[in-house]
Amino acid sequence: MLTHQAILAIPVGLFAGGFVTMLAARMLRDTVLGLFSCCPECGVSLSFAEIVPALSWFGGGGSCRDCDASITVCDQVAEAATAVLFVWAVLRYDQGDTLVVIPLILVVAGVALSVTDVTAYRLPDRLVFPTFWLSLLAAAMLWILELERPGGAAWCSW
Ligand SMILES: [Zn+2]
Repeated sequence: MLTHQAILAIPVGLFAGGFVTMLAARMLRDTVLGLFSCCPECGVSLSFAEIVPALSWFGGGGSCRDCDASITVCDQVAEAATAVLFVWAVLRYDQGDTLVVIPLILVVAGVALSVTDVTAYRLPDRLVFPTFWLSLLAAAMLWILELERPGGAAWCSW
């Protein structure tokens, strides 16, 4: 059953997916990390209407308004995958506290790594190493906090 948190995770996941694809593209080009997207061909900044996930791609016909460069559908797939994974993480880990943020951060990092690998066949160290250490820390935190919950981690109550 979809909760209202899971339904809210859909648009949040779509925007997070859009941010992730921008992040991955900028890391590959070694450009400054910023909040606003731009066309990779001509560099024109995108308006807010042009960064709305999925809808902007259909609205713009899959190309840049200035230079007519084709925009890959890979970004929309990444946005949709992020939204699906966000819903899964909320349904799986949301228990009314803020712990659900940890798997959501890992979803964002995992999608960023996947997009980078799919588009360029290389993973940048400045994305892999922080993600690795963040994953270890998150796994440890989830494990410790799961032990403290009533009825949690029954598998280790020997
Ligand atoms: Zn352009």
